[in-house]
Amino acid sequence: MDFSVQPSDPIVILGAGVFGLSTALHLSQRGFTDVTILDKQDYDASKYAYLEGCDAPSADMNKIIRAAYGPETVYQDLSFESMELWRSYNDYISAGRDLPPGLSQQDEIWVNNGNLQISAQMDLPYFERMSIENMRKAGKRGTQVVVTNKDDIDRAEKAGFGFAVDPFGRRHKSKPYQVLLDTSGGFVYADKACRLVLHLARRAGVKVILGQEAEFARYCENPQGDITGVETVGAKTYPARLVVVACGGWTQQIVPTMDDLCETTGGSVAVVKIPKTHKLYERFSPHNFPTWTYKMRDGADGGLYGFPVDEDGHFKIGYRGTKYINPQTISAEKERSVPVTRWSKPHSITRLPSHALNRIRSFLEEFVPELGEAGFNITFTRLCWYNDSFDNHFVIDHEPHKKGLMVATGGSGHAFMFLPNIGKYVVDRIEGQSGGPLDYWKWRTLEPSQKPVNVLGEGGQSKRALQNHRLYRDEELVLGGTAGLIKKSRL
Ligand SMILES: Cc1cc2nc3c(=O)[nH]c(=O)nc-3n(C[C@H](O)[C@H](O)[C@H](O)COP(=O)(O)OP(=O)(O)OC[C@H]3O[C@@H](n4cnc5c(N)ncnc54)[C@H](O)[C@@H]3O)c2cc1C
Repeated sequence: MDFSVQPSDPIVILGAGVFGLSTALHLSQRGFTDVTILDKQDYDASKYAYLEGCDAPSADMNKIIRAAYGPETVYQDLSFESMELWRSYNDYISAGRDLPPGLSQQDEIWVNNGNLQISAQMDLPYFERMSIENMRKAGKRGTQVVVTNKDDIDRAEKAGFGFAVDPFGRRHKSKPYQVLLDTSGGFVYADKACRLVLHLARRAGVKVILGQEAEFARYCENPQGDITGVETVGAKTYPARLVVVACGGWTQQIVPTMDDLCETTGGSVAVVKIPKTHKLYERFSPHNFPTWTYKMRDGADGGLYGFPVDEDGHFKIGYRGTKYINPQTISAEKERSVPVTRWSKPHSITRLPSHALNRIRSFLEEFVPELGEAGFNITFTRLCWYNDSFDNHFVIDHEPHKKGLMVATGGSGHAFMFLPNIGKYVVDRIEGQSGGPLDYWKWRTLEPSQKPVNVLGEGGQSKRALQNHRLYRDEELVLGGTAGLIKKSRL
């Protein structure tokens, strides 16, 4: 099929999350002159802030950035590339010229406070060992700190990362602790990052249409069945030579042929709010506290991660040991998981499965007992929807049977860090290039001999289906005290 697109051809991008924003910016930087991005959420009003009514994972407080990627050097290289650009975003902001509303010259988007990977094993796990090896090959061994190695610790302290070596005081309390600190990692303020890239895209000439009226309604097709544009809920038609669907967990609803490739799954997030005036605010500030992960590859028992406080005192912790699904019947033979959030209509969800909340609370009670002792409880929670491919690689390719249609999705829990550069590869694909990372991101099917990283399509019978879970009760939000008693009574 001929997928060629000329720089003057109209291109419509559906979705102003990470993939859509980055694609729009890179298209315009590469000389494409007629680019329109449509999103059903009014990000000009909400500024990508979750609490202002945004339900996409790109609209968030913070996201982890890391270069240490175990054996997956394709993403390690991609991270090195994106980190350069994250730095350039910080420089752009500090120069203070032409900033979007809500960003000031004092803002820093990318914060290099280190990323601590905690495991419960006695020895460093395979992933961490491979990270050390592959970072060494890339000339960056110095960024990998094994916190049981004195020389490594000395190096971390000299580099200003002494605070990140034992931030939970585990070694101090002689608790089991096997950790790799990646001093090249940290986090980005996600909402601010999206705001900046949306602004840069607009400045570069991208047309941006946001809000309910811009919600996708249907494709426009020619008599041959090729896509020639989209019509929105607001009954406006946007002609296009190419439509790029970048709708995260909603993509399968718009491109149903993706059902065997990706599935949307819910990650659990909880936030403890610490007032700025409280001493714990300083203790958990980015200059005193790293970004961290805990037992990321240990199934339902692990998969926790967290951040320092943000400027509003939000201390965020996530659980992805179980990724939930929300299967809905779409035909006699088929169910599809669809995102359900605090803001979705007609049904919404404001609570997590009790199982997820308990994991988060147990971690906080064991690793950060000072929160409960100071009387803090979990303030609010969020179900946040991944779009997981079966092999955890992104999907950036043409829909093979539909001329004029392409997808950029499958973030699989790790695409935010590539906001500055992922669009470059989408444009490479549009221009007909292949090779390098693009080969991982092809439209593909699971081979019979292939073991999926993420099992898709388990449906309503699955243990992960939300309908098979009890959601938490208010008393389970309490840290220490009552919650500790509840937990003990279950043992
Ligand atoms: C809990 C959680 C934690 C994560 N943590 C990290 C992390 O620490 N580091 C990291 O790098 N990555 C992380 N990720 C992954 C990262 O957030 C995602 O991969 C990335 O944000 C996905 O971006 P996206 O553009 O694919 O989709 P989304 O952010 O989902 O954006 C899709 C957009 O499409 C719009 N849309 C949907 N349907 C329609 C429609 N019908 N019409 C018009 N517009 C529509 C939506 O409004 C939305 O704005 C995490 C993800 C989750 C869920």
